[in-house]
Amino acid sequence: MNKFENYCTKFVQSIGSKEGAVSPTIVASASFSYKTPEIAEGIFDGSIKKPLYSRMGNPTTARLESAMVEMDGGIGAVATSSGMGATTLAIMSLVSQGDEIISIGGLFGGTYSLFDETLSRFGIKTTFFDVDEFDAIKNAINDNTKVIFLESVGNPNMRLPDIAKIADIANNAGVALIVDNTITPLSISPLSLGADITVYSTTKIISGNSSALGGCVVFRAINKNVDKFKTARYSFLSKFIKGAGEMALIPNAKKRALRDFGMSANAHASYQTMLGLETLALRLPRIVKNIEIIALELAKNSLHVNHPCLPSHPHHTRYKEAFQYGCGTLLTIDMQTKEKAYSFLRKTKLATITANIGDSRTLALHMASTIYSDFDEKTRKFLGITDGLIRISIGLENPQDIIDDFLNAAK
Ligand SMILES: *Cc1c(COP(=O)(O)O)cnc(C)c1O
Repeated sequence: MNKFENYCTKFVQSIGSKEGAVSPTIVASASFSYKTPEIAEGIFDGSIKKPLYSRMGNPTTARLESAMVEMDGGIGAVATSSGMGATTLAIMSLVSQGDEIISIGGLFGGTYSLFDETLSRFGIKTTFFDVDEFDAIKNAINDNTKVIFLESVGNPNMRLPDIAKIADIANNAGVALIVDNTITPLSISPLSLGADITVYSTTKIISGNSSALGGCVVFRAINKNVDKFKTARYSFLSKFIKGAGEMALIPNAKKRALRDFGMSANAHASYQTMLGLETLALRLPRIVKNIEIIALELAKNSLHVNHPCLPSHPHHTRYKEAFQYGCGTLLTIDMQTKEKAYSFLRKTKLATITANIGDSRTLALHMASTIYSDFDEKTRKFLGITDGLIRISIGLENPQDIIDDFLNAAK
């Protein structure tokens, strides 16, 4: 069965209830009472599975986490207050001062500044690579490398990684691979390709309508026999493996990041996110189809469109072979100059000018003057940010309406 079709059944069935309230219940309480001191002790030592305090987990959020685990085929998940919260949680659960991160592809502006500015202040070094620099990536791995971080689609450079090949490099070296799969939920399943952890901004296509900020981290199981997380590189994990076995990455993330940084999801946002997730498998294939129609037609009309469905794209073959379910909601148009880009944005009647992506509506933004305005020339070049670059996130509209509007706006 087509992957999307399969998830149409899964999501609605796992989010709705067969008894009582059909729609998930919002448990808005920040704290939970334990009834007896013995139960309190059991909840705190983990032997009793009941809510402790909403910073550490909430029943509504747990429902969202289960659906996300089901989507990605992991063993557990932690939902967070935002996508940046998810990336921060995943990274901070694995790194200490003196450790190194290898970052491949992309990169989302917030993630870039987290790695390059913020984490470097705490003695955590990141080196950045293009998706196809396989030898340089291998050579950069050393004893201090704790994380290889990869974006499933370059945002906004639209380069596609060979996820399975990068996972092989990570697995052979015994280093954790985290994939930011925000742009390609469902379409790409990083854990089945050999990644260890996926991170999401659920704010984007998972919620799908700008109604809730949120994020989620999904973890794979620790292997009972041999596992890279059982090696000296991750010695801090051994106590969690002893206590929680194959679930170890979840208590590790909660105790080493969520508890102290507090990037916890709130119940209202988790509820809203589930309403979006319920229809993700219906919305995404339409957008993936729309985006191909729109990219081909705009390119035919001599616009400088960047999307891997175009035969001229350097990763066109990879797109056809490894991204059969599309590469998300983005394409870019290079209008060549800032003036022409601004003119396009002033003239478009359908695109909403905003920094968001992955919405029911088509969205657009000039990159150099907004998200990347305080990035230096060299970094912009590395990230593919040119003066006339507009990032477009295609929505659910009729594709011909978008084509007509864009061709008019580009005049
Ligand atoms: C938006 C985004 C993030 C950050 O998510 P927020 O919910 O805005 O914090 C991270 N990665 C990618 C690829 C994104 O598009």
